[in-house]
Amino acid sequence: MPSPRSFEKTLPALALSLGLLSACPAPGPTDTAKQPDDVAKATALLDASARLPPRAEVVALADQIAILATKEGAIEEQAKLDVLAADLRARLHRIEGTDADAREALELYAAAARVARGTEAGCRADRARALLLGELAHDASTSYRELYLVKRRQASLAADGKTSACVEALARDLALAQGYRPGGADLAELEREGDKAERTVAAAAGTASASIVPVASTSSPPADLIVAPMDLKPAKGTAKIEKIEKFAAEGGGRVVIHLSEPTTFQVGTLEADDKTGKDARIYLDIEKATAKGVSREIDVGGAIKRIRSGPREGGARIVLDLSSAMHRRVFYLPEPFRIVIDVSSRPPEQKAPANGPRTVKRVAIDPGHGGHDDGAVGPTGLKEKEVALDVAHRVAPVLAHELGVETLLTRDSDVFVPLEERTARANAFHADLFISIHCNASENGEARGIEVFVLDELKDTSRAAARVAALENGLGVKKGIDAESLDKEMAQIVGRLQSGEIATSSRKLGDLVTRATLASFGTRYPDTKDHGLKSAGFYVLLGAEMPAVLFETSFISNPDDEGRLAKADYRQKLADGIVNAVRAYREGK
Ligand SMILES: [Zn+2]
Repeated sequence: MPSPRSFEKTLPALALSLGLLSACPAPGPTDTAKQPDDVAKATALLDASARLPPRAEVVALADQIAILATKEGAIEEQAKLDVLAADLRARLHRIEGTDADAREALELYAAAARVARGTEAGCRADRARALLLGELAHDASTSYRELYLVKRRQASLAADGKTSACVEALARDLALAQGYRPGGADLAELEREGDKAERTVAAAAGTASASIVPVASTSSPPADLIVAPMDLKPAKGTAKIEKIEKFAAEGGGRVVIHLSEPTTFQVGTLEADDKTGKDARIYLDIEKATAKGVSREIDVGGAIKRIRSGPREGGARIVLDLSSAMHRRVFYLPEPFRIVIDVSSRPPEQKAPANGPRTVKRVAIDPGHGGHDDGAVGPTGLKEKEVALDVAHRVAPVLAHELGVETLLTRDSDVFVPLEERTARANAFHADLFISIHCNASENGEARGIEVFVLDELKDTSRAAARVAALENGLGVKKGIDAESLDKEMAQIVGRLQSGEIATSSRKLGDLVTRATLASFGTRYPDTKDHGLKSAGFYVLLGAEMPAVLFETSFISNPDDEGRLAKADYRQKLADGIVNAVRAYREGK
């Protein structure tokens, strides 16, 4: 079994070529000083004897290198930078065991292999990805399988059958892993997959006839992300694409595909092609699905030019034509089943420093509900949607005047905005914080006080918290929804989606909202009960690229709390609490 470290042995050579990079003209004036420093620093940290600084610092450095990669014009250099960033994240994963780092490394290796297809750098990235996949699976036969597929793919990419150092290294890897080669039918199956990988590469290079797939006019490289919902039952029939929702601005966008039932899907990315004039694309192959009944082409604008859909073998394909290459993030929401595709011009997982002042220039305030969705309604008829909007209207101007913060209201009037669109707006606005304002409701009307929620993969969810989430997710409690198992699934999705750092920062913000609100109530409402900070699977928070909290300002279902929520004075104190929490967060408290 080849050790993953065997790839690290090639790193000195890689570092050498990266060292040369610093002699090249820097792509922009701001990078002139940074580029060689960061690259040299990262390279040094990969040395087996190097001690790693705190995780946040290493992640920031890896992100910086990944950003440099996006600015790099030459594809091989771009791939090398992506691989360097990936190596850093992989090393972090080996030392700290953090899944988010392993995932990020895999993404970066895949990106490098894609961008530098057919080059030595692309091959090295593909090989590193296969080795890491095997390592993560703790299974040498996985390593064999992944390396085998990479070798078939890379060998056919090499021009005129010429062999390269990387393809030779792959052959050596496979020889070492010979003992884990599958036998019999499994080997035949693997070889068939190898044939397919080779054909796919050949077709993409234009040596095969045009594809029969209507929406994809060329075949695609193998999709790099496969997602299967938890507890996926065998599909009863065909999953019907019921509608496609879209939101886009210049900085990013979101597409939500609603399906009649859960199914597996694969995601891939294609580069823009100057020769054919094709845009950068993200494609989604949805198994056992049909796109009959939705428009084949939907114009969007901004970051997403258009969405195309159509049939493909075994299911449906959705293609997003992008205005330029974008970072992507794809996940699903259960109940009802939806696939969400986020694109952004900035890399995911912007980091906030753990200590000291934090950057807060833009804040998204999200007044819950609106339009036909009243939210919870109090005993005398006060509506949650009215309270939420009024509190938001009190928060926004103060944030602007006192803190000089730009604010975005996800709704500014009594209109309905879908839950998925709210974070999409905040992401496109590049908000640093997201605060969703709501009123709580209990079954018997007795509960009172304030409660703040965050999304977290940690499973501290109580039955009560899961119930609040089900209510706020618009699922109600009567439809036979199993709120707790839904919440478990949401925790798993959150785990795949966000790093622990967003969750930590969200908890920090949530804690400050609680404390600042209690302080704001002060002696005027000293009896306010604090239900504390909880986590549960709120759709409205999912996919937020920034720390995000959902603030249940009080129980509108309780006559006394409703009475307070109706008063301007109480609403102003709530607003002051939110503003003071943002201030404290910015000051690093
Ligand atoms: Zn609500």
